[in-house]
Amino acid sequence: MDNWSPDSWKSKPILQQPEYQDSSAIKQVENELEQMPPLVFAGEVRSLHKQLADVASGQAFLLQGGDCAESFAEFNATNIRDTFQVMLQMAVVMTFAGSCPVVKVARIAGQYAKPRSAGTETIDGIELPSYRGDIINDIAFNAASREPDPQRLMRAYHQATSTLNLLRAFAQGGFADLHKVHQWNQGFVKKSPQGEKYQHLADQIGDTLSFMEACGIRGSNVPQLKETSVYTSHEALLLNYEQALTRQDSLTSRWYDCSAHMLWIGDRTRQLDGAHIEFLRGVENPIGVKVGPTMNPDELIRLIDAVNPTNMPGRLTLISRMGADKITEHLPELVRRVKEEGRNVVWSSDPMHGNTIKASSGYKTRSVDSILKEMKGFFEVHRAEGTYAGGVHFEMTGQNVTECIGGAYRITEEGLGDRYHTHCDPRLNADQALELAFLIADTLKQ
Ligand code: PEP
Ligand code: MN
Repeated sequence: MDNWSPDSWKSKPILQQPEYQDSSAIKQVENELEQMPPLVFAGEVRSLHKQLADVASGQAFLLQGGDCAESFAEFNATNIRDTFQVMLQMAVVMTFAGSCPVVKVARIAGQYAKPRSAGTETIDGIELPSYRGDIINDIAFNAASREPDPQRLMRAYHQATSTLNLLRAFAQGGFADLHKVHQWNQGFVKKSPQGEKYQHLADQIGDTLSFMEACGIRGSNVPQLKETSVYTSHEALLLNYEQALTRQDSLTSRWYDCSAHMLWIGDRTRQLDGAHIEFLRGVENPIGVKVGPTMNPDELIRLIDAVNPTNMPGRLTLISRMGADKITEHLPELVRRVKEEGRNVVWSSDPMHGNTIKASSGYKTRSVDSILKEMKGFFEVHRAEGTYAGGVHFEMTGQNVTECIGGAYRITEEGLGDRYHTHCDPRLNADQALELAFLIADTLKQ
C-alpha cells in the first residue's frame, strides 16, 4: 500500500477526537495497548471478508446490529447474552423464512466511541464538553466527568476482550445450537405476537431437524447446526486506539486492525482527505462507510477508489442512512452510479440514524414506522435499479427497553421514560427487532 503506515493518518486533518490534558498519560496508554494481545486474528477477518463477498454477489444477507454505544455501567453477561440471542433469533428467521444465509456482525466488543454533532452540551445555562462515549469521558453532567481520561482506553480494551470471550463461548459452546432454537425465545418477547410467530417458525425448524435425523443426518456431526460464527464491529473513530491494536499478519505481512473483524467510518468523519479514510484504507479488514444524504455520486466513486482500489468484493460495505423521507430521492443516483462504474460493494441499510427525533417529553427517539419506511424504501430502490439490497444495520438490544416508539407493544411518547437506558441513541428492543426481521424475511423470499 503506497505511502501508508499505521500512523500515516496523523498527518491528515482529523475530526471528532478528544483533547487530553496530559499528553504523556495518553502516550503511555497507547504504548501499553500496543503490547496487549489482539482481540481478533487475521484468519477470522479473512473469513468474514469471504462471507461479505458472498453478500456482494447476492448470495447472502448481512445482519449488523447492537448498541449505539456500549457502556461500562451496562456491562454484564445478561446484556451480552440477550443481544446475542436476539441476533440469533433474527438470523434464524431470515435464514429459514427468507431462505438466505445470514452473516452476523455485532456492534459489540469495541463500540465505545461516539461522534457528536456538537462539541458541547448546555443544560440550565451550564456549558460542558459533550459526552463522547465511555472510552473517552463520562456521561455525568459535571466538568470532571466530561474531561477525557486516558485510562478509559485500557478499560474499554479489557471490557471488549471479556465481551468477546463470552460471545465466542456462546457461539461455539452450545448456546447457538439450532436444536435450542425454541430456547432463544425468552421473557417479554415470548408473550408478544412476534414471539408467537417465532415459536411457530421454531416448531418448523424442530420438525426439519427431526426429519434430517430420521434420514441419518445426525446434528451432532454437523458443525453448521451446532455452532455459529459471530463477528464484531465498531466505528473506528478513536484512531490512536485503532492504531495501537493494528498488527502485521505473520502469514501475509499485511496489516490488520485487530480491535474487531469489521470497522466502519461514520458519516461525520468520511472526508476524502481526512485521517479516518487514510487509516482504514491501509488495513485489510472489511470496512463500512456510512453514506448520508450529503453524499454525491462523484464523491462516492472517489471514496470507493480510495478504500478499495482493487475492487475486491467484500472489502467495502456502503451503509446508507438517508432518513425515511429522503431515501428515494438520494439513494437511486448513488446506487445507479456505483453499478454503472462496476464497483463491487455491499449495500446495507441503516434506517436508524436518519430518523432520530426529539419526543415532546424530551427523549431522543425513533419511530418503528419511520425505520420501516426507510428500510422498505431501501429495498424498493434496489429492486428498481436491479441491484442487490445486501444488508441491514440496526441499533438494537435484547433488553425490554422503551426507547423507540411504536412496534407491537405500541410504545408511546409518554411511555418512553419507563425503561429508557441507552447511553446514546435509542435502540429497538428485542420485540421490535424481531418484527423487522420477519418483514425482511418476507422481502428476501420475493
Ligand atoms: C452510529 O452508527 O452510531 C452513528 C453515529 O452513525 P452515523 O455516522 O451514520 O451518524
Ligand atoms: Mn448511534
